[in-house]
Amino acid sequence: MRPPRSAYLHIPFCHRRCFYCDFAVVPLGDRASAEPGAPGSASIAAYLEQLQSEIRSSPAGPPLSTVYLGGGTPSLLSPDQVGNLLQTLQDRFGLAPGAEVSLELDPASFDQERLRGYLRRGVNRISLGGQSFDDAVLAQLGRRHRRADLEQAIGWLQREHRHGGLSSWSLDLIQGLPGQTLEQWQQQLDAAIAARPPHLSIYDLIVEPGTVFERQQQRGLLDLPEADLAADLMEQTAARLGAAGYGQYEISNHALPGHASRHNRVYWSGAGWWGFGMGATSAPWGERRARPRTREGYAEAVREQQHSAQPPSAADAPEAGNDLPLDDLLLVGLRRREGVSLGALARQRGLAPAALEALADRLADVRARGLLMIEGDRWRLETPAGLAISNAVLREMLAWWEVWGAP
Ligand code: SF4
Repeated sequence: MRPPRSAYLHIPFCHRRCFYCDFAVVPLGDRASAEPGAPGSASIAAYLEQLQSEIRSSPAGPPLSTVYLGGGTPSLLSPDQVGNLLQTLQDRFGLAPGAEVSLELDPASFDQERLRGYLRRGVNRISLGGQSFDDAVLAQLGRRHRRADLEQAIGWLQREHRHGGLSSWSLDLIQGLPGQTLEQWQQQLDAAIAARPPHLSIYDLIVEPGTVFERQQQRGLLDLPEADLAADLMEQTAARLGAAGYGQYEISNHALPGHASRHNRVYWSGAGWWGFGMGATSAPWGERRARPRTREGYAEAVREQQHSAQPPSAADAPEAGNDLPLDDLLLVGLRRREGVSLGALARQRGLAPAALEALADRLADVRARGLLMIEGDRWRLETPAGLAISNAVLREMLAWWEVWGAP
């Protein structure tokens, strides 16, 4: 595997924790800001020092082609703080010419001036956490912003994109929400299409352990869509966005031509990446490593890294174990429109040709329904109904691997 050329930086701070969120997050309160003396500012400053130390003491590597600052709510950082992080990456790795530098922003946590500040310091792609255009839904999700904040933020992004200061931007929405009807979701899609973001990420709601939503579900208060409606929502998403010119290049991601996220593609291609920050996962040479999810644990991990021996360079990367785990490779492959090159994977791992025939038999029903295509080496789920069953197909593939892949 080539040395990684992508980096993810986790900014864990949020104003408050949304009801569905189980990310590694530190809620600082609604008045928090990075301005000196503001609530939360000292915590943010201390964390950024740790993050920069972690980057400086990491192994060196070639210049980065993609950088993604996610969270959390990275728009809690000032433009100077974002600029300093980018400079630290520049000093450690370098940024390749034309590198894609993405920043997640939440409506109601930045203004136009701040947006321009980020762009001046090297950010060229924005991912906007809109989630919904419906105020009642935003309240139900525990979000801090409302539709008016979202529309204002969209206006600023459109303006900067039009004037060339911003290469691309993306809007996040959540589908499959409690009580959601097909008609309501259609209105959400219409509002999103009208905003004309070059990229749209549409995530299915997942009720995660430890969240407010999980507690509501346990008390019977969460009216989630049945499987049929969930499949209809997904189908409508693909159909309406397709008709509006968006290509679905991955199960949750849709883009106008030329606007697919290069950083996302790194995760799904099986290439490695650096991950820095509390709770961040990195897989520089295929071997996944997760940072501690608490401030204290992360601070300790950074101290240990700093005091360890001189950091190795990418040239010292281990040769063994340089592939992502098979379940990751299969899942990312099945989620992508282009599928997974299972023939090549089987040859690479020394499987007999009969192994693939056995898998094809195992998935005969899915193939007969036209949901799974096998074209030469490549196995591909047909969207949207095929992509909707990617987890079930993955389970079959892993069960097959238990039988055929054991040494
Ligand atoms: S803003 Fe995003 S990261 Fe923060 S709590 Fe809400 S969903 Fe989680």
